[in-house]
Amino acid sequence: MKKIIIIGGGIQGCTLAVHLLKKNKINNSDLLIIDKNDRPLSNWKACTNIISMPFLRSPSVHHMDVNPFSLEKYSKQSDYHKVNHFYGYYDRPSLEMFNDHCDTLIHDLNILKCWHQGNAAGIEKHKGYWMVKTAEGKTFNTEKVVLAIGLGEHPFWPEWAEQSCKDAASIYHIFQKGMPELDRITLPVSIIGGGISAAHLALSLSKKYPGQTSLIFRKDLKVHTFDSDPGWQGPMYMDKFNQINDYSIRRNTIIEARHKGSITKELYLGLKSAEKSGKIKLIKNEAVSYDTVAKKLHFKTGEPYEAKSIILATGFHSSPPGMEWLKNTVENENLRCAKCGYPIVAPETLEWEEGLFVMGPLAELEIGPVARNIAGARRATERILRAI
Ligand SMILES: Cc1cc2nc3c(=O)[nH]c(=O)nc-3n(C[C@H](O)[C@H](O)[C@H](O)COP(=O)(O)OP(=O)(O)OC[C@H]3O[C@@H](n4cnc5c(N)ncnc54)[C@H](O)[C@@H]3O)c2cc1C
Repeated sequence: MKKIIIIGGGIQGCTLAVHLLKKNKINNSDLLIIDKNDRPLSNWKACTNIISMPFLRSPSVHHMDVNPFSLEKYSKQSDYHKVNHFYGYYDRPSLEMFNDHCDTLIHDLNILKCWHQGNAAGIEKHKGYWMVKTAEGKTFNTEKVVLAIGLGEHPFWPEWAEQSCKDAASIYHIFQKGMPELDRITLPVSIIGGGISAAHLALSLSKKYPGQTSLIFRKDLKVHTFDSDPGWQGPMYMDKFNQINDYSIRRNTIIEARHKGSITKELYLGLKSAEKSGKIKLIKNEAVSYDTVAKKLHFKTGEPYEAKSIILATGFHSSPPGMEWLKNTVENENLRCAKCGYPIVAPETLEWEEGLFVMGPLAELEIGPVARNIAGARRATERILRAI
């Protein structure tokens, strides 16, 4: 019998694991992390690597370790202090340094000892313990389960893209499994989306394929430093949020607070400068269909546009992750969900049912607009630890 099973070994699940182990709440042998991938942070690394993101959007104090200044300390103790690996006013860390810091924690805490590669397919409550079943036929008993499943595996395809050409070889979602090497795409290429992933990808491709890259977005590009106001990190906005009893209002508040599809100032300036030098075309228009034979993108207004490859950078689905396999547990244990489908959990500990916890997107109705981010992982960890 394990003491804790964490389902999902992304940023969220690994942050919890680091805190549990470092604070001596648990030994490696009592902890199990079940994840579909063979190693920690696979989705994070794949998503950030493919778009060539040089720096994180979040500040240096947002990382997986316990001490908020751990990353800063790490940079001083390693070779990272020789060249500046922090960007701008908020000391945003380079992806390279951030990932090395994560890997060092994972190595030093021997987190791979707690790792089980598998696809969690069901959770059953028994007298005094939980049983986790995997699609591969394994079962594991545990005192507590934490659901740390992210949205990373549910890329969002707009309806026109799905309808006109999901099977066509010339249209992809940048976060789909099996995305081909970007060196092999046919040109010219159009990237669809106006958010941070689209902008990073567009800038990187415009360097590789100058004059053959376009970025297509529906609304004016929005510039915001973070993907929600820093007031959501603490009591400034969260005190009021916590007083909202109606979960539909909480959901709307989260939607309004998130600067979805926004980019940082340096990305905006980078795009404008690439446009000026003819490396990229910035096109504000709404794609409505794609002719896979003629390789033309059709817009709401104006002429069809030649694009031999389309790469969607349209984010992830907004529906709660994992509900297809959690359905039976929700029904059998009468677990509460809001109208939006997301769990209603105990505010103090993020417990959905005794011994069953959530973090990441599934904890959004308690943690608020930052739940999906690294800051949210830290906040959720703090609350779950209260019950352990
Ligand atoms: C390009 C990009 C840049 C970002 N930059 C930042 C940033 O700078 N700062 C910030 O704070 N946030 C950032 N984010 C947001 C967020 O921090 C990341 O998306 C982060 O990777 C989310 O972590 P996660 O653990 O929730 O999800 P994931 O990384 O998706 O991990 C969840 C894990 O759960 C596993 N899983 C799911 N279902 C099951 C199952 N049934 N059985 C077993 N395993 C399962 C998955 O395989 C996966 O490994 C960024 C996101 C993206 C996409």
